[in-house]
Parts: sequence; structure tokens; C-alpha cells
Amino acid sequence: MNYGIIGYSGRMGHEIKSIFGSSGHVPVLLADENGIEAENGKPQVIINFALPASVNDTVTLCRKYGSPLVIGTTGLKDEHIESLKKLSEEVPVIQSYNFATGINVLKIILREFSLMLSDWDAEIIEIHHNKKKDAPSGTAVLLRDAMLTGDKNRKRCDIHSLRLGGVPGDHTVDFSNEGEVLTLSHRAISRTVFAIGALKAAEFALKTERGFYSYEEVLKKIMDQ
Ligand code: NAD
Repeated sequence: MNYGIIGYSGRMGHEIKSIFGSSGHVPVLLADENGIEAENGKPQVIINFALPASVNDTVTLCRKYGSPLVIGTTGLKDEHIESLKKLSEEVPVIQSYNFATGINVLKIILREFSLMLSDWDAEIIEIHHNKKKDAPSGTAVLLRDAMLTGDKNRKRCDIHSLRLGGVPGDHTVDFSNEGEVLTLSHRAISRTVFAIGALKAAEFALKTERGFYSYEEVLKKIMDQ
């Protein structure tokens, strides 16, 4: 496929170019904080791993080319989500704060089972590299949302953010009552997993109807095929 990448010069931009390149996909649109670096024809899908400030221009580019969007940028505000949902009335938009399979399975577990732990304390610890710009991580927020969706009575689940060295992303959810501790944890060993997920999402976007999708939905649809 011919694809576009917003944030091409960043850590994730490099991973995406490498993973997409190894499957023979060609970057025809490259953009970062300095603007558009290359624009050589219609991207069949646009990938965004950048900063929230890039969302408006990315939406404009998707409209210009009628391209689906895969967006992994974290720290989005309600107004960004609204604008992505509006775009999804025209093209497929796949938005996730985490494109790793394990985190999406953890989300399902939390949604499904946290009600059984309603009267236990719950805390989330996330560790990321010291260059990460947002805190708490989008993934920690996503895990807390899954927990609160499964357990509407829960009053509190604090998130603790650590910024250490080059860690790609560790998330631990601890539950405890007077007699037990239950720990669920996920570790991304390298950033490559997120790029592999973005590629799966891009392949899904090429053959799906317009609409707003999470990566969890993409994984479920792939499983059902
Ligand atoms: P980075 O700082 O290494 O790179 C950011 C990139 O965005 C750079 O190329 C920069 O030039 C570009 N950029 C900044 N402002 C821009 C703008 N206004 N318009 C266009 N481009 C702009 O960051 P990174 O580690 O590559 O992470 C990028 C984003 O992806 C972050 O939000 C991070 O949290 C997120 N992320 C998401 C996942 C996931 O699975 N969803 C995984 C890893 C990282």
C-alpha cells in the first residue's frame, strides 16, 4: 500500500517506516512538526503517531485524499476525539492509545472481571522512557476506563507515572483487599509491537466501511475472519 505518516521523524515514525517497509509498503506522504516533507500521490491510509497539535492538519489531509486514518497519538482532548469521530463519518478511523495485543486483552479482562473486585483497592502504575511528553499514559487511562466500565461502583483508581530511561511501556494494575493482592501486568519489550499493530489496523482500514474503531475491535474482527 501507499501510506502517509505524520510524525515520520519520531521514535514511532521510524518503527512504522521499518515495519511497513519490510512488508513492501511505500511512504508517499511524510510530515512532522516542520510541516510536510514529501507528498508524492494519494496515500491509501494515513498513520499518525505525533502530538495532539497534529490532529487538525491530519484530518484535513485525510479529507483531501479520502484516506482512512490510523491514529496512535496519546494525550488527545475531547475536541480531538470529536473531530476524529466527525471524520469517521467519511472514512474509517482507527484510534487507540495502545496498539499492542496484550494491552487490549488486559482491557477486556478488566472490563469483564473488575466487578468481582469492587470492594478491593485498585491502583495503576505506568513506567515509560524519560522522553515521553504526556502523563499519565494514554494506556493507563484506557485501562482505568475499562475497569470503571466493568465496575460502575468503583470510586477510586489512581494512576502513578514513572519516567525512567528507555522503557517502551510497562503497565501494572494492582488490586488488594485485607488478605490478597492480585497483580495484572503488561510489558512492551520494544516499540516494534506498536508498529506491527498499526500495520494490522492499516490493513483492516483498507477493507472496512467508514466508522470509528478501537484496536480492540480490529483484533476481534481479525479473530472472527
Ligand atoms: P517522538 O517525540 O519521538 O516523535 C513525535 C513526532 O511527532 C516527531 O516526528 C515530531 O516532529 C512530530 N510532531 C510533533 N508535533 C507535530 C505537529 N504539530 N504536526 C506533525 N507532526 C508533529 O514521539 P514518539 O515516541 O514517536 O510518540 C509519538 C506519539 O505516539 C506519542 O503521543 C506517544 O505517546 C504515542 N504512542 C502511541 C502508541 C500506541 O500504541 N498508541 C505507542 C507508542 C507511542
